[in-house]
Amino acid sequence: MNPSRQFPSNPYLLLANIGQLLTLRGDSSPRRGAALKEIGLIEDAAVLCGGGRIIAAGPQRAILRGPWLRKNRRKLREVDCGGRVILPGLIDSHTHPVFYEPRLLDFEKRIAGASYQEIAAAGGGIRSSVAAVRKATRKQLGQQVLGALKAMLEQGTTTVEAKSGYGLTAEAEIKSLQAIRDAARLWPGAVVSTLLAAHVVPPEFAGKEDQYVDVVCREIIPLAAKKKLAEFVDVFCEHGAFTLGQSERIFASARAAGLGTRAHVCQFTASKLHTLLSYQPASFDHMDCVAQEDIGLLAREQTVATLLPAANYFLGHSEFPDARRLIDSGVAVALATDYNPGTSPTPSMAFVISLACTHMKMSPAEAIAASTMNAACALRLQERKGSIEPGKDADLALFDVKDYREIGYWFAWNRCRQVIMSGQLGLNEKS
Ligand SMILES: [Zn+2]
Repeated sequence: MNPSRQFPSNPYLLLANIGQLLTLRGDSSPRRGAALKEIGLIEDAAVLCGGGRIIAAGPQRAILRGPWLRKNRRKLREVDCGGRVILPGLIDSHTHPVFYEPRLLDFEKRIAGASYQEIAAAGGGIRSSVAAVRKATRKQLGQQVLGALKAMLEQGTTTVEAKSGYGLTAEAEIKSLQAIRDAARLWPGAVVSTLLAAHVVPPEFAGKEDQYVDVVCREIIPLAAKKKLAEFVDVFCEHGAFTLGQSERIFASARAAGLGTRAHVCQFTASKLHTLLSYQPASFDHMDCVAQEDIGLLAREQTVATLLPAANYFLGHSEFPDARRLIDSGVAVALATDYNPGTSPTPSMAFVISLACTHMKMSPAEAIAASTMNAACALRLQERKGSIEPGKDADLALFDVKDYREIGYWFAWNRCRQVIMSGQLGLNEKS
């Protein structure tokens, strides 16, 4: 893809005739409790973008009356949004795009009744993706990542967090992070990189788990930081992956290297969260089974609970993360796809929004706030992204619907008509 062709330079862009504009305006902290459904809806709206940022957003009559706009209207590129819905570009704050093959064996085994743990024990699961990633070249992996990023952008996602985690050696983890960076340079959206060398213990360290944690802490994390290939370090804290004590060591090493932290935690079993919380992680992800006392603790922290219901869907679970209990207790909640080959091969945030509405009893407004503003907080990007307000990056998604509630309603149907990245019209442009 030639980004300059996809996103021609255009200094000013006016989006006019917006039926519903979801601004998500407010302060730059995660939305909690009743505030999660405040999406800053403006009807008959317009947005003016310039220099890659939002210049003005509000009722169309007020925007068009602005003296600057009246004088410069002929210089603008103007888009008639046809009464449709504009919202901040969706933010997918948890993905694993560096893999080489789909996991069809797992898919069939699970249909036949095997559990996640049984598939892993039989040599499937995460470890089967590792062999393919170790063999693949950086270029091959970069192409896979770029393909996923393009699919995400077509569905309205303009910012993506991307993890390594299928290499599990210093060389293959660095290669995976380089593949993310290579793809990010060819993609017009924003990419946040995360090192997930502590995804599982690789087969060559079976029975020597602490030795692998030593390699992660002493070798892989410092190397990724030195090469400036990752902003965050993630760990899968779970039975069969890493213990709480090992996870703390990994967080301590990340902090020493100057990197942020986040964790896969409480997916299958509850973990005590307070020791990990002392590292002020940006997010705790999955959070299917959180102890009640930890919910009260989380409600007082900036750490965002990122819920990943597409994994529950794809694993055929009848239980979903208890979003209501978390939200109503004041925990900051975000939503993400968990895009990965084993448990969630979907690039669609709109599908996740739909699942949140139908299976987690989140209202459409809450699900959208959790996929924009709170997801920006989960990546510590809330000063630049997540809402449509003057000064923020002009990353927007135009959906071919008249009412924002349709985004979660038309499930498995891509209604994203166009994205605007840094104030430039992008993919899906349909005239
Ligand atoms: Zn994950």
